[in-house]
Amino acid sequence: MRITAKAMLDIVLNLTRLRDRDALELGLAAGLYGLVRPQRLSGWRVVEQQGEKHLAQCLQFDEESQLHVPEIQLDMDQMQPLQHWPAAWREVCESGLPQCIGDGQDDTLLLPVCLPHPILLIQLHGVAAATQQAIPELQGLLQVYANHLRMLDYAEKDTLTGLLNRKTFETHFNKLLALESISDEKNQRFHQRKRHDGAALWLAEIDIDFFKSINDRFGHLYGDEVLLLLSGILKRQLRLQDNLYRFGGEEFVVVLSPTPDDDAQRVFERLRQAVQEHVFPQVGKVTVSIGYTRIQAGADASTVLGAADGALYYAKQHGRNQCCNYATLLQQHLTPEKHQGNDAELF
Ligand code: GH3
Ligand code: MG
Ligand code: MG
Repeated sequence: MRITAKAMLDIVLNLTRLRDRDALELGLAAGLYGLVRPQRLSGWRVVEQQGEKHLAQCLQFDEESQLHVPEIQLDMDQMQPLQHWPAAWREVCESGLPQCIGDGQDDTLLLPVCLPHPILLIQLHGVAAATQQAIPELQGLLQVYANHLRMLDYAEKDTLTGLLNRKTFETHFNKLLALESISDEKNQRFHQRKRHDGAALWLAEIDIDFFKSINDRFGHLYGDEVLLLLSGILKRQLRLQDNLYRFGGEEFVVVLSPTPDDDAQRVFERLRQAVQEHVFPQVGKVTVSIGYTRIQAGADASTVLGAADGALYYAKQHGRNQCCNYATLLQQHLTPEKHQGNDAELF
């Protein structure tokens, strides 16, 4: 098969116009599907969890349907450890190089997107023989795609901790609520999501206690190191499908993927304890206060942040190093005092 420069440029132009990761992933899949015309196209996200790589299906394109799992809805239940996959798949993940695999009946071309390690595998079914000569062009296209993703990363992440930044939170929050309300049957089946009854999204604000005094006593560099190490501690306690943001200064926000009430409380308590138990170099012990709230369907970001902020304020006023649930405080008539100013920027 021959790929014309015009066809390739059209795809590149379309992709580089996009800023939304899900739209980009779909754009890449649709572009490749139109260009190569495979029997089917599948996409597999490469996810590292506790040092081990896994694959999770995120795309499936054929004549009849186009299915996509947004990155933000990644579900650990759907992932398979890479070590259980055939050797050719493991090799592609190791080398970052494309490979033709299969037995003639379903000859497949497997193309990795690398950043620099593979983050996504595109599987083109039934075209490996026909596309042999076009592999360099296809690889070039995926490289442009990867470069574009790298630029998005730069805009979406905090430079000190590598966590998602506040601006990204706003985009994610609206997207998550919209995704929660979608009941697209086909996509739900594709997701195979197992959901407990009563599970909801949760948001927590986490604020380091007496952080100013850490800076004052040990200097800003040690303060920065605490922020960096603490980010790692929080991240390790969370599941892949939960999102952690650095909101500013010494404040973090967590959005939990759908979780029942009791579990949410346990997760936030575990975060608090993990920080409390860590001994930071030079600085020693550091604690955090946490205010959290369930995210009601149709809620807007500022109401949810306001509730978590109120609960955090209560935690700060009543001894710090504790987790407070906004709804529990209300039930106990311990209405968290609202303070003046913007959400989440006061401690
Ligand atoms: P509280 O327990 O009430 O939260 O007290 P606090 O001292 O943590 O809160 P306060 O808001 O008084 O101080 C926050 C400090 O965080 C002040 C600021 O210098 C510091 N800070 C903000 N961003 C950074 C950063 O990027 N690096 C370092 N090292 N310090 C930062
Ligand atoms: Mg603080
Ligand atoms: Mg603060």
